[in-house]
Amino acid sequence: MLETVTKGFRAAKNRLAGKSELTPDLVDESLRDIRVSLLEADVAFDVVKKFVARVREKAVGEVVQTTVTDAGGQKRRVSAMDHFIKICHDELEALMGPVDTSLHLKPKGQLSGIMMVGLQGSGKTTTTGKLASRLLQEGRKPLLVAADIYRPAAVDQLKVLGERLKVPVYFEPGIQPPELAKRGYAAAREQKCDVVLIDTAGRLAIDETLMTELEAIKSNVQPDTILLVCDAMIGQDSVRTAAEFDRRLTLDGFILTKLDGDARGGAALSIKEVTGKPIKFLGMGESMDKLEEFRPEGLAGRILG
Ligand code: GDP
Repeated sequence: MLETVTKGFRAAKNRLAGKSELTPDLVDESLRDIRVSLLEADVAFDVVKKFVARVREKAVGEVVQTTVTDAGGQKRRVSAMDHFIKICHDELEALMGPVDTSLHLKPKGQLSGIMMVGLQGSGKTTTTGKLASRLLQEGRKPLLVAADIYRPAAVDQLKVLGERLKVPVYFEPGIQPPELAKRGYAAAREQKCDVVLIDTAGRLAIDETLMTELEAIKSNVQPDTILLVCDAMIGQDSVRTAAEFDRRLTLDGFILTKLDGDARGGAALSIKEVTGKPIKFLGMGESMDKLEEFRPEGLAGRILG
């Protein structure tokens, strides 16, 4: 996972190993390794530029504190490598953070709604099931609305997930998605559920019909949260999709799926900086338990090894 982006940091570490002083030349050479790997990983160009400039400014501009006191009260020297990697860690965290996993749900017992949007194949239906499973564990009572009415397979897929999770699934043939979503809320009230998760339709690419339909669903039910499910493996395409969905729907955040199979990491590193909206969860596999809260610090740690 994220091998491409990790590669540059590993090269920088090797370059700095054993060096006692972080000279401007060493900083520039290390940043060159990192820059190449970030671009290869499909991180947005502006994000790469900003990241490199921030790290350079800190690494070259700061007087290196050569000793730190560790948890046991012992003083120890900080190597050039430790110092540089710490700066990279902080800047990676700043790029992807702060942590924001809130779904803005009302208190338990009051009806809340989450609208799931995304392109076809992004993992939207699977992720809707994963989120329902998580909400169940938190003591909520979810109901799923199958509003991806154009692909019968999507409705069936959601029904299967609902059966497996023992969560009701609302669907009525012949009803258009904005009305279906509204009726889904009514069904949730009747069945004493307290979170409606609407699985909306996706397309292979963004089109006007899709966006207009999603806007109509939003205005009909006014969900508490709108989440875009993004496929991490398509890199910057995912970031461009995110920006467009956000422009039309004002998203609350993202769920980045398939990070388990993403060798590059470009979407994870760019999406927050480009859109200003947080990644809330990561999809780390196909099964229902493979949904992690997004922790920028944790991902920065994984990248830096
Ligand atoms: P939708 O068209 O957006 O509803 O996408 P689906 O939910 O049908 O998912 C498309 C494919 O991606 C399926 O084969 C899923 O099992 C798979 N998938 C979804 N999320 C993840 C994930 O986090 N990791 C991996 N490896 N596969 C995933």
